[in-house]
Amino acid sequence: MKTFCQFTLEHYREILATAAQNLTLTNFANHETARQNKPVIILRHDLDSGLAPALAMAQLEYALGISATYFVQLHSDFYDAVSLASSRDLRRLAELGHEIGLHYDPTYYEAVGWDFRDGMARDLELLSALASREVIAVSRHLPLLSHQKVEYPPQVRHDAYNPIFINGQFKYLSDSNGIFREGCFCEHLSTRRDYCFLTHPIWWVNAGQNWREKLQQQIRNDCETVTTRIQEKIVQYEKILVKRADYDREFKAR
Ligand SMILES: [Zn+2]
Ligand SMILES: [Zn+2]
Repeated sequence: MKTFCQFTLEHYREILATAAQNLTLTNFANHETARQNKPVIILRHDLDSGLAPALAMAQLEYALGISATYFVQLHSDFYDAVSLASSRDLRRLAELGHEIGLHYDPTYYEAVGWDFRDGMARDLELLSALASREVIAVSRHLPLLSHQKVEYPPQVRHDAYNPIFINGQFKYLSDSNGIFREGCFCEHLSTRRDYCFLTHPIWWVNAGQNWREKLQQQIRNDCETVTTRIQEKIVQYEKILVKRADYDREFKAR
C-alpha cells in the first residue's frame, strides 16, 4: 500500500518503483540511448546543501538499478565539493553509476570577474577530474533569480533548462523549496509522456515535517560535522604539544 505522500526516502522509493513498471528512469547523458518503447523519466538532483544527503538517495537508486544525474556546485557557501571528504563522496556517487553534472551560478562568475565561458570550462574540467568522469551536463542554480543569457563552452551537451526538458517534450516537475507546485511526482506517472523530475535530496533525506524543519536538521548536521572536526584538531594539537620538543629536535636534524 502506498504511504502518505511526503518527502521521505520511503516515498521516493515507492515513486521510483511504481514509475519503473511503465517508464524508463534514466539520466541526462543516457536519456536518448536508454529509450525503449516506453516514455522516459530523467532524474535530476541539484545539490544545494552538500553531498551527504545525495549519497543516501544515490544508494537507494543504485539498489533499484537506476542511474540519475547529480548536479554539484563548486562555489557553494554551504559545502566544499573539492575537500578531501567531499571528493570521496563525489567519486562514490560516480561509482554507483550516476552521472555527475555541474550546478552553476552565473552570478558567481560575474561577481569574481571571470568570463562566463572560461569560468565554466575550468569548473567542468575540475569537476570531471574530481569525479573521474567526463562532465557534460549543467543546471543553473536559482534560475528564477538570475536571468543572464549565457553561452556554454563546447563540452556542454545537456542543459537541464533547455526548453525541451522544461515542459517541452519533457514535462518538468520539481520539489523546489521543499514544496510541490503541481502535486507529488506519484500523481504524474502517465505512460503517454516523458518527464524530467528535479529533486533536492535534502528534502527527502533530512528529518522534519516541512522545509524549515529539514533545514533545521541541516544546521544540526553541519554543526555536528564542524564540531567533530575541531575536536579532532584539539586532540591532535594536544598530542603534538606533548612531544613538541622531540619533533623540534627531529626537524632540525633533517
Ligand atoms: Zn506521492
Ligand atoms: Zn540549486
